[in-house]
Formats: sequence, C-alpha cells, structure tokens
Amino acid sequence: MRFLGVGNAISKRLGSSCAVLLQQGKPLLLIDIGPDTLSRFGLALAAQPEAVFITHAHLDHIADLEPWFYQLAFAESKWPRLYVPASLVPILQRRVADFPNWVAEGGRNFWDVFQLIPVSESFWHAGLRFDVFAVRHHAPNAAFGLALPGSFVYSGDTRPIPDQLAAYPRETIFHDVSVRSNPSHTGLADLDNYHAAIRDRLWLYHYGDDDARALAGWRVVNAGTDVPLAAPDPAATSAGMLAWTA
Ligand SMILES: [Zn+2]
Ligand SMILES: [Zn+2]
Repeated sequence: MRFLGVGNAISKRLGSSCAVLLQQGKPLLLIDIGPDTLSRFGLALAAQPEAVFITHAHLDHIADLEPWFYQLAFAESKWPRLYVPASLVPILQRRVADFPNWVAEGGRNFWDVFQLIPVSESFWHAGLRFDVFAVRHHAPNAAFGLALPGSFVYSGDTRPIPDQLAAYPRETIFHDVSVRSNPSHTGLADLDNYHAAIRDRLWLYHYGDDDARALAGWRVVNAGTDVPLAAPDPAATSAGMLAWTA
C-alpha cells in the first residue's frame, strides 16, 4: 500500500489522505480522491487511476472528482471505475454530480465519464473481493472502511471501531488519527482503548502538519512509502474461489 497523502482536511503540507493498493508495482485500486490526488498519482505512478473506492463525501476525499471529470470529458479514455457505497450515491449526486451543465456547450453529464459501481458489504475488483463496512464519522452510513481479508484494513475517517476491527485478526490496519479526540476522528487517547493485538498492527494517518512530535512512539504512515502487505485470504481471491468450487 502506498499513501499519496497522509494529512487531515486542513493539512497543507502532507496532502489529502489517500492510498493506492499496488500489485507488483502496478496501481490496482486508489482509495479516495481529494484535492491534488490526481497529480500526486500521476507523479508517483506515471498513470491515471483506473479504479477508485470512495470512503465518504468530505471534500478532502472527493474534491478531485471535478477536475477528473474535465480531464475525462475531453479525452477518449477508458471510463474509470468508481466503487461507491450505495448510501453515498445520493450524497455524491447532490454534492458533485448535480452541478448544472457540466460543459458550457452542453451534451455532457457528470456520470457519462465514470463507471459508477454502487457497493454494499463487498465487491470484486481485479480478482479480489474487498469488504466494505460502516465506520463512525459524522452520521450513520455516511463513511465507510475497506478491507482485503488477510491483507489490510483501511479505516477511513472514523472514531474508534473495535467492533469492526474484531473481524480482522491479522491484517495490517491503516487507521485515522487525530492528536486530540473529537466527535469525528480517533484521538491518540482513544487508541489506548484498543487492545494490544490491534494496536500492534496500526499504521496511523490523517494527521496534521504539526503533529509529528505528538505522534512519536506510534507507527505513522508517510506519503510515498510502500507498506508491504500479506497476501489476501484465498476466499478473497477469484483464484481461491475457483479452487473451492472445482
Ligand atoms: Zn478526511
Ligand atoms: Zn471526513
């Protein structure tokens, strides 16, 4: 997993939090697309994303959908896949897609250039079955985490979620952090409530520009650094499923 940005919504230096799942160095799935994510993706990987999972509709996680629309609307490129939790679709519709007359000369709708794939508890992408679960960020069913069983859990922006993490006993956990506890994010003091078997697997992200000292002693993600992951469970791969049904 490579993070392109690890900052919070007001971080100027660290970039908006987002990460790319890489397979043998090739981008497989981008998680979130906040401001400047597309150019960071292009610089890091010399490519444009082919698939994105959206955790929630705060602008630090979706703002680049607008410039991406314009890039795609005037290029004959393949439609990227947008995996969006079903309850977020109406929110994205209101927050982004409903803009009137996307192109001055008319003839274009926001969704024309994307392959929108609403998802519930899980979805398949590139032969892998990803889990999707609700987290605790502002309102029920307004923000979601992502997991690849056996491999990783990505919390998205959230308060602590011990109930959800209990389902993932060995995965690497990428987790929201904020120095101070607040109603939207997980404070450092909140992390003490996770038992050691979870704390030992945490990689923290979504912190502030000046938080390095406060986070000393915790394992934090830095943008541009690859975090190696274990292979997914066979049941979360199409190859594993074929072996099971053969
Ligand atoms: Zn955020
Ligand atoms: Zn948020």
